[in-house]
Amino acid sequence: QIIFVPAEGGAGEPRVAASPETVKRLAGLGFDVIVETGAGQGSRIPDDEFAKVGASIGKASDVSKADIVLRVRRPSDLKGYKTGAVVIATMDPYGNDAAVQAMAKAGLTAFAMEFMPRITRAQVMDVLSSQANLAGYQAVIDAAAEYDRALPMMMTAAGTVPAAKVFVMGVGVAGLQAIATARRMGAVVTATDVRPAAKEQVASLGAKFLAVEDEEFKAAETAGGYAKEMSKEYQAKQAALTAEHIAKQDIVITTALIPGRPAPKLVSAAMVASMKPGSVIVDLAVERGGNVEGAQPGKVVTTANGVKIVGHLNVPGRVAASASLLYAKNLFAFLETMVDKETKTIRINPEDELQKATMLTNGGAVVHPAFAKAAE
Ligand code: NAD
Repeated sequence: QIIFVPAEGGAGEPRVAASPETVKRLAGLGFDVIVETGAGQGSRIPDDEFAKVGASIGKASDVSKADIVLRVRRPSDLKGYKTGAVVIATMDPYGNDAAVQAMAKAGLTAFAMEFMPRITRAQVMDVLSSQANLAGYQAVIDAAAEYDRALPMMMTAAGTVPAAKVFVMGVGVAGLQAIATARRMGAVVTATDVRPAAKEQVASLGAKFLAVEDEEFKAAETAGGYAKEMSKEYQAKQAALTAEHIAKQDIVITTALIPGRPAPKLVSAAMVASMKPGSVIVDLAVERGGNVEGAQPGKVVTTANGVKIVGHLNVPGRVAASASLLYAKNLFAFLETMVDKETKTIRINPEDELQKATMLTNGGAVVHPAFAKAAE
């Protein structure tokens, strides 16, 4: 079977869905791999490196030969795709019903990597974690670059530079890495979340936990380990607690998300206005509506009182070379579970736990339970 890896750079995506390591292993499993010329450019992988491990270098139209297409993002143009082709990518299906239906209509079997269950066996396939981890790291790097002061305390002959105070809001995978990174850079770190499990994790990284710990907080974690959307009352209590704290911070990094819902608004314009000039806020949730009032997707906004609000898009793409290596490995691990060792082809099995959770379209229909209804 033929696997095709397109260049997504044209769509402003510097990452790529395969690496020399995964191409080599795919070839080892018996696949013919075609990598579009320039696919690795944004991740510093020249065509040569793919060719050396057995890929042929092709062009965009080679997608028409592919039984399997590995991508970072959902394809926007389905021209040339074979009926029955398997597409594995992050599909961003919420609010994009028409695009999901188009894939069904084109007869594609589309797998949405973001729905990979968070079970031990699938940890190696968890693209949300691999990319969020790097985003959390990069958020601190971006904040430090916008901040006109040093992060660590420096005691010098000429005087003492105080350590920066960093507040991380939302401590999932991205938030935990942001805490660890800010700590390594010498900042004094506090953090908040609505899930009680976060408290211990924050402490273990040497940061201080701050949250409204009422009855609702104690029940805020779903069975899947995600946050619930909190009540208006809780949000008001949370805002009161954080308002006072934020005014004293130098850097705020927000990462709060709720699956399938808009990001919760955690930082109001009044809170931003209470911060000192030169303070920096990085809103990692900006693509999902943002945690911070005034954050703008793709922009660094400076407010009237001199606070910078950073709203970079595709933050994992800002560390593309690292992000692609991990993402490629995630996809390879998933694909490997589908391979029939004897026939050296992949077996679509809607009953398989991992395929069932991630399968968005198959056999001409939208099959994922969260989206099938909208498609009727
Ligand atoms: P996410 O990206 O969905 O959300 C980021 C964080 O924002 C979460 O910690 C969430 O609790 C928090 N949040 C939501 N609403 C908030 C609010 N109003 N105020 C403050 N914080 C708010 O989260 P994620 O990084 O995907 O992690 C979700 C969970 O999954 C965590 O418990 C994580 O440890 C767990 N996880 C498990 C595995 C595994 O077992 N394989 C892998 C990765 C993550």
